Amino acid sequence: MTEPPHEPAAPHPGAPLAAPLAPGLYPVATPIGNLRDITLRALDTLAQADLVVCEDTRVTGRLLARYGIAARLRSYNDHNAARQRPAILEALKAGKSVALVSDAGSPLISDPGYRLVRDAIAAGHRVEAVPGPTAAIAALQVSGLPTDRFRFVGFLAPKDGKRRRQLEALAAETCTLIFYESGPRLAASLRAMADILGDRPAAVARELTKRYEEVRRGTLADLAAAWDGAPKGEIVVVVGGVAGGRPDARGGSGTEEDIDALIRAGFAAGDSVRSVADAVAGSTGMPRRTVYRRALALSRERGPADR
Ligand code: SAM
Repeated sequence: MTEPPHEPAAPHPGAPLAAPLAPGLYPVATPIGNLRDITLRALDTLAQADLVVCEDTRVTGRLLARYGIAARLRSYNDHNAARQRPAILEALKAGKSVALVSDAGSPLISDPGYRLVRDAIAAGHRVEAVPGPTAAIAALQVSGLPTDRFRFVGFLAPKDGKRRRQLEALAAETCTLIFYESGPRLAASLRAMADILGDRPAAVARELTKRYEEVRRGTLADLAAAWDGAPKGEIVVVVGGVAGGRPDARGGSGTEEDIDALIRAGFAAGDSVRSVADAVAGSTGMPRRTVYRRALALSRERGPADR
């Protein structure tokens, strides 16, 4: 194998790209907390782009400084997007490479960028993702809930009436649901979810990848009762889908494997066989006696140390 030609030292630990970045728009994912959660290609792209478009130049400036990257920054957020878009499209037209980042995680996911990407595509520009962290997927991965089919809902409306209507529209959804939430609204949202969706298995993932990371698993009602006041930090709520009363109706659940996953999530939250059986039977529509028998068998498999 021949050695690649020697490249000048990069300001970050990634191998530099052999060729300059092609003109186009690059949505680049950045960390959701832990600053080491950034890909080598993200660093390459940020270092090489002619322009880095970001929500807040101070936030992105700190990230870039951490990796020794000097870049031309332009802000693009909910307040100025319509005003800024033409200039960014003009830069693309002039053959520039433009990286698009948000304050944290993947741009466009409950963050600005969709209209810019849409207009860039319509104008015939290259649009290439530089993928990486997103809080929704990180939370789903640790929730213990079925992952084969899920629906990302994002933020619910802050007002009670609209939030209830949004939840009612989701009540028959059979796949796992993912919500973004804030500390001050968490308890009210969990109560509304328990009330409208039923007392299903769920997980609350807080401050993922950060020092005070915490994941609590249990039923919606248990989780709603679990906090005195508003927890600090950033939060994702993951909720199991509904069975619609038919064991095989739930996305991926209803199979033995999925029922087992729900039972195990209940055990992981510290629930007894009896309360796990109640919650899983309630949320899946499976006969309670069947679920109870299975929960008992699984609890015996776990052994005393796990219980
Ligand atoms: N684009 C981002 C992404 O890819 O995850 C999401 C941006 S949205 C404005 C911010 C919300 O994402 C927060 O209110 C919270 O619901 C969720 N979030 C972001 N970082 C998080 C973290 N470290 N832990 C838990 N939730 C997080």
